[in-house]
Amino acid sequence: MTRKWRCDKCGSIHEGPEPPDLCPQCGGDGSRFVPVRGRVSRFCKDLCDTFVLHAVAAHFSNGLLPATVLFLLLALFSGDPYFERTVLHLIILALCVMPVSFFSGFRDWRTKFGGGHAPIFFRKMWLSGLLFLLEGGAAAIRLACPEVLNDGGILKWLYAGCLLGALPVVVLLGHYGGKLAFQWKRGAR
Ligand SMILES: [Zn+2]
Repeated sequence: MTRKWRCDKCGSIHEGPEPPDLCPQCGGDGSRFVPVRGRVSRFCKDLCDTFVLHAVAAHFSNGLLPATVLFLLLALFSGDPYFERTVLHLIILALCVMPVSFFSGFRDWRTKFGGGHAPIFFRKMWLSGLLFLLEGGAAAIRLACPEVLNDGGILKWLYAGCLLGALPVVVLLGHYGGKLAFQWKRGAR
């Protein structure tokens, strides 16, 4: 199959199944020739090079929480069971993705940051644990007591409190995540 190759020293283009032994323009070694990629292939490579699993998983699960709280408020004020059930579905979806977020973050901490001991890493870890407890606690209450919002009492406020309390936790997690992504080289602590 004919492919296009570009000399990374002088930019000369060669067409053929293999790169040439020597560059006809600059005389550079054939190993300097790299495949010329099409637009789709370039886009896919770029996507693979810049894909950060932790950022995607964290934004996905943490981004569900404001929507969860919105549906909780709608359920509280309208009493509509549709809104009430949506709250549970969103919590369960967030809980399913949370382990991916936690373990990919842990892997990044070990590989990209060499398992550093700066406080920011431990703050992110205990905040993640707290978030899991709050959302897991809310799910446990709702599953154990499906009528929690109608029955009222302390469980209702504990359920709502877990979800509302998780909001500042995701804000802080996002804040520290942003510091690590953008300011780490400038000394984020
Ligand atoms: Zn060349």
